[in-house]
Amino acid sequence: MNNLLEGSTTLLNGIGEETAETLSEMGIDTINDLLNYLPYRYEDVRLRDLNEVTHGEKITIEGKVHSEPAIVYYGRKRNRLVIHLLVTQYLVKAVFFNRAFLKKKIVIGDTVTVSGKWDKHRLTITGQDIQINPKDHTNEFEPVYPLKGAMTTKALRRFMEQAFKEYGDIINETLPEDLLAKYKLPSRKLALRKIHFPQSLAEVKEARRRLIYEEFFFFQLRLQAFRKMKREASKGLTQQYNLQHLKTFIQSLPFELTHAQKKVVNEICRDLKSSYRMNRLLQGDVGSGKTVVAAIGLYASVTAGYQCAMMVPTEILAEQHFTSLKSLFHETDVTIELLTSSVKGKKRTGILEKLLKGEIDILIGTHALIQHDVVFAKLGLVITDEQHRFGVEQRKILREKGETPDVLFMTATPIPRTLAITVFGEMDVSVINEMPSGRKKIETYWVKHNSIDRVFEFIEKELMKGRQAYIICPLIEESDKLDVQNAIDVYEILSQYFHDKYKVGLMHGKLPAKEKDDVMRAFSENHLQLLVSTTVVEVGVNVPNASLMVIYDAERFGLSQLHQLRGRVGRGSEQSYCILLADPKSDNGKERMRIMTETTDGFVLSERDLELRGPGDFFGKKQSGLPEFKIADMVHDYRALEAARNDTVALLEEADFWQSPEYLPLRNYLATTEILNGEKLD
Ligand code: ADP
Ligand code: MG
Repeated sequence: MNNLLEGSTTLLNGIGEETAETLSEMGIDTINDLLNYLPYRYEDVRLRDLNEVTHGEKITIEGKVHSEPAIVYYGRKRNRLVIHLLVTQYLVKAVFFNRAFLKKKIVIGDTVTVSGKWDKHRLTITGQDIQINPKDHTNEFEPVYPLKGAMTTKALRRFMEQAFKEYGDIINETLPEDLLAKYKLPSRKLALRKIHFPQSLAEVKEARRRLIYEEFFFFQLRLQAFRKMKREASKGLTQQYNLQHLKTFIQSLPFELTHAQKKVVNEICRDLKSSYRMNRLLQGDVGSGKTVVAAIGLYASVTAGYQCAMMVPTEILAEQHFTSLKSLFHETDVTIELLTSSVKGKKRTGILEKLLKGEIDILIGTHALIQHDVVFAKLGLVITDEQHRFGVEQRKILREKGETPDVLFMTATPIPRTLAITVFGEMDVSVINEMPSGRKKIETYWVKHNSIDRVFEFIEKELMKGRQAYIICPLIEESDKLDVQNAIDVYEILSQYFHDKYKVGLMHGKLPAKEKDDVMRAFSENHLQLLVSTTVVEVGVNVPNASLMVIYDAERFGLSQLHQLRGRVGRGSEQSYCILLADPKSDNGKERMRIMTETTDGFVLSERDLELRGPGDFFGKKQSGLPEFKIADMVHDYRALEAARNDTVALLEEADFWQSPEYLPLRNYLATTEILNGEKLD
């Protein structure tokens, strides 16, 4: 940074203590702060042809003063100044309120430029700004800045002009030359000049392109430096798995892996083999085949001579995984055990003993896995499924059970790429963005609440075919504030409606864990045909015979959550349906319902969700880890974000970066900035 730019704004003419204080409130203390203070929009001050201007538009015109300015006083201290101007062939009236002082300055025959609101019917402009005998009309676009206190746009523009005149030439470049060349970005000096004094909107766009990239670049530089530092500090296991066995295992699967699965398997295997510790997030929509990928990872680690743990949030899920892994491994000699809190006494002791002796290869379970008496002989790989259900603390305990086991987090919540690389920036992210072929699309309908009778008939039709259905409600109990159906009411209505014919179950978050499990089990064994539930049913449950989901008040849910819910059906071979009961009032709500009926791709939905709700709301609550950008927008500018990510990753891998004088400023930047959450480099 150039020292001169660190000077106080009071070095500029016209900025005294008072003004400096106002500027300081706006976050501007130094010349550099001022130069970097960005406009949030531009006013179009190109001279307009009155034939093309529409009524009510804000325009700028230029004309000759045709008659003596006239003042009308009215009320106390209030006045109106009227000037007649000849603008091309029109005689136009320009009106200014409470600016009587202008009268003296204006002489017939003067050329004036007036900006204001155009009244087409009266040929009148209500002026906000006037320039008398302007030297020339240079700027076509005037920047508009966010202001505080007594600061005015005019004054700020003047300070900016002065600052650029005196200091504009010593603005330093901050980005590496080759990256500027790669993207044909303007220099920092030029970009800032253009953002403040553009000749055209195209120039603004160019300048913004540079500043957006720059902002992401420095953000990613910090993030990636942090990731690199973490990774190198975390020496992990080098797992020499048996490639031949692994290939045989993959060939023995009853299906061919999708491209996306193959790619992720490769990423996982590379991590296992490397001396770094794996810290990877695997995202894949429900049904995209994460379990098989996990199984391949587990098998690789076992062939390298290690034990593995897989932790899932509920007993039912643990059992489901246990069953499917056992069948996947049935032709191998891998030993798998299940450990949940229902495994007690002798059975449990037996498992723990074998585990300690290294006689169990894979242990699947719930948080029962993190009890202190669960000890592995040689833990190599830890996988957690539905990772957002576990606290950071629980994951940490499990990870610390081995010396430095590799860790894979799996989640079925598609997180938009942009958020994934920012929020999980310190993790590696793998994505399965492709479904196994031959899947039936879940047919989704959006229905108004007044068609509920037809919905009930539809439910009955599905039940008559021997299928089961989920009925989802937003709230558990009646709330007088919100006019929403609640699970208990709906449960009662449906129980009456289907009385002896079908059994209805009720599930919600306030039930004790044991009862929840019982209800879920009854449903999965088809003792219950209908399950009325709140969103607790969202995660991981697999009941292939359930082919219908009805969601009450669907407009209350975000797209990502609706998608998660809908993923409970469509797991069997039958055509599945999802009915969204909703009377959304807002356009946004209608849009969400419409999108749901159009796509079942979780990544598309999550991107749209992010667009509609913004990054802050995406996670349901304000996510503290989410960075705030000055000019860049994670959603809109995601391409730049990805580019900056790739560029910084590559840069940090270059020996030059750590040695060459060219990169000294960037190295200094990393050394003096908190690169993440208060951690510094070295
Ligand atoms: P996820 O855990 O991602 O929700 P699963 O791993 O449970 O998905 O897979 C869902 C179903 O798809 C399982 O029955 C699985 O056997 C099957 N499956 C997985 N991968 C493939 C594939 N490449 N081709 C066909 N079927 C697959
Ligand atoms: Mg799964």
